[in-house]
Amino acid sequence: MPLYAGFDLGGTQLKYGLVDERGRMLYKEKASSPAAIEDLLRLLKNLWEDIKSKGKTEVKAVGFGFPGIFSLSEQKILQSPNYPSLDNFDLLPALSRIIEVPFWVDNDANMAAYGEFKAGGGKGVQSLVLLTIGTGVGSGIILEGKLWQGKCGFAGELGHLTVNPKGERCRCGGQGCLETEVSALKIAKNYTLLKKIEMDISAEEVFRRARKGDEAAQQAFAQASYYLGIALAATINFLNPDKILLGGGVMSAEDYLLPLTLEETRRRAYKASFECCSIERASIGNDAGLIGAALWAKEQVKSGQ
Ligand SMILES: [Zn+2]
Repeated sequence: MPLYAGFDLGGTQLKYGLVDERGRMLYKEKASSPAAIEDLLRLLKNLWEDIKSKGKTEVKAVGFGFPGIFSLSEQKILQSPNYPSLDNFDLLPALSRIIEVPFWVDNDANMAAYGEFKAGGGKGVQSLVLLTIGTGVGSGIILEGKLWQGKCGFAGELGHLTVNPKGERCRCGGQGCLETEVSALKIAKNYTLLKKIEMDISAEEVFRRARKGDEAAQQAFAQASYYLGIALAATINFLNPDKILLGGGVMSAEDYLLPLTLEETRRRAYKASFECCSIERASIGNDAGLIGAALWAKEQVKSGQ
């Protein structure tokens, strides 16, 4: 059976692996993401050799999910707030010196949405929105059974939907984006503001404190839920999707995030549209990006793109 490789580049980790035609994972591994582009290319070259040695049959194609705004016409990441060394870098020539089989690049959240659609919680639906909430907020949209890339490739940036017009400045240049209001960093900041203390704390630690009954920690998640609910209601009224899947590290705190988010969404969306849409936790989570990238490459080979 032919195999496909997928790479999912994040701000801290590079996940990679091999999947078969049905999206079943045969091998997966991860490495630390180097900040400099030359180091990233050197790492990709080594990992590609490693992947090839794992597959008993030939790897037919490779998919890459990179963070940032990916231009379809220029085949470059134009702007990557979480991985600045990718900005405007000529990816294709550099990757073609490393990868000798056909390969495709797209935005990491688009690839994760495609992974959930083909092999995860979105299987069998026609329209799907995936939101990944972690250090940043990524999203990808499937419409009528196809990845919705938009005219230039920039669609599905729900992380940069304004949900709080008077909120903080965002790295994208906007203000009060969904990303600035619900990211792991903001949840940690909510907590320190509520406690009126200055401390270096992670969202994971805020989650641990919430579980122990710390009311400020629970409130830190509740504040994020309010803004997440605003974004989901807008998404539901705008697209009327079959399903919205929520993934990313912050969703580990589902119990403190999801019920209030659903309440806020229900309050703001059309009742019929809300009831028509299922909002769930993403099912393949951290692997969605690499599975999606590999299956995206498979799809492009088949359609002769
Ligand atoms: Zn933004």
